[in-house]
Amino acid sequence: MGKVTDNLQPKDVFRYFGELCSIPHGSGNVKKISDYCVEFAKEHGLKYRQDESYNVIIWKEASAGYEDKPTVILQGHLDMVAVKDADCTKDMENDGLDLEADGDYLYAKKTSLGGDDGIAIAYSLALLASDKYEHPALEAIFTVDEEIGMLGAAALDLSDIKGRIMMNMDSEEEGIFLAGCAGGGTAACTVPVEKCREKGVLCKIKIDGLRGGHSGTEIICQRANANVLMGRVLFRLSQKTGFSVLSISGGEKDNAISKIAKAELIIKACDADTVKNEIGLLEKDIKNEYSATDEDLKITVSIENQENSYDVFSDESSEKLIMALIQLPYGVQKMSNDIQGLVQTSLNLGIIKENSEGVVLYYSVRSSLGSEKDFLVDKIKAFMRFIGGKCEMSGLYPAWEYVRDSYLRDKMVAVYEKMYNEKPKVETIHAGVECGIIADKLGKLDCVSFGPDIMDIHTTKERLSISSVERTWKFILEVLKEL
Ligand SMILES: [Zn+2]
Repeated sequence: MGKVTDNLQPKDVFRYFGELCSIPHGSGNVKKISDYCVEFAKEHGLKYRQDESYNVIIWKEASAGYEDKPTVILQGHLDMVAVKDADCTKDMENDGLDLEADGDYLYAKKTSLGGDDGIAIAYSLALLASDKYEHPALEAIFTVDEEIGMLGAAALDLSDIKGRIMMNMDSEEEGIFLAGCAGGGTAACTVPVEKCREKGVLCKIKIDGLRGGHSGTEIICQRANANVLMGRVLFRLSQKTGFSVLSISGGEKDNAISKIAKAELIIKACDADTVKNEIGLLEKDIKNEYSATDEDLKITVSIENQENSYDVFSDESSEKLIMALIQLPYGVQKMSNDIQGLVQTSLNLGIIKENSEGVVLYYSVRSSLGSEKDFLVDKIKAFMRFIGGKCEMSGLYPAWEYVRDSYLRDKMVAVYEKMYNEKPKVETIHAGVECGIIADKLGKLDCVSFGPDIMDIHTTKERLSISSVERTWKFILEVLKEL
């Protein structure tokens, strides 16, 4: 029996896409797919380099007549977000995907598809494999672990890369060309905690039912963040009654708007009604404030009857924690004055987690201006120092700043207009893409990020538009011919 992709056009692109999908390649599990690309290069007699992180670079000479044209970098990432439905028995570490085509859509049964960013690799392999296309010299850069912090791009050695024009194929809307992105990193703020012994009844508070979302692209929606709200709940209680914090936690990813937060408090049995009352009143206010974005927001309280002794946060530690939660900045800090509707600087409190030193608040900080990001981080650091805690930065990635003059972008826009009789949109986004890291390493880079239509990426509903893949393929061939 043939593969689903055998009958799809463009044949070469879908043949490679089908092969990539038969190799498991979730982030962190990329050796096999990286080796596959190495085998591909060997088979086709192409120069290649695989590094210790399993990034792969493949070189191909210009086609006849294109020897004098500037080298073009084709770029995409090898890893995918591997997720499956709760009732799916597939072992995504070891099994390939089960592809299905339905009308114009290609998807994988009960799992994510990895069109993000397998389609970029498929386009590149189809170009590298064949001699029937016209193009300048090509350098294909395939990175790993983009989806877990752009680790491959960060580790990449680009000293042997000649190209200063890059076509990044990691965008998911045909007709939109990305020309810049935010830089950022993760700020881990540790509030030091000292413990003491306290007697009382256990009170559990849970905030959930929130919509969540991506902390870059969706911070502009100003949805509720459960971690931030927990700070407000605790502050309100601290004004009305006494309590001790036993534990606190919330969120799962620093780059997701937190949908859930939990706290366990130890209170006096006689304060139970006050606690319930105050939280009920506050819930009403908060639900009202977020009625347009988070209508299912819920704050639940359960209080046990049995009195016990617990190791709780000291009063001073609790106060520091509450101050950090309500005083550290959150959300959109500044909108761009150059590009309408673009968030310039923001931060998201994605995770609250306890460790042996205290409570750590993980903020994802972003800005399209490096200096603004630095000032925001300095402000957080100053506050944390003031309360005797600390703030450590990690996973820093540079912004890809929009440039007014771009040879590649102008060419791509012109080719697009010629082919489709309409103007593409040129945008910049408030999220990180690998172009920023690569541009930073190469010093100077003329770059555009684009790609065919892919819906619901990073979910089991991910689907790739077959017709859009074909149009984008023709577009790529045309651009390479015209450059
Ligand atoms: Zn991607």
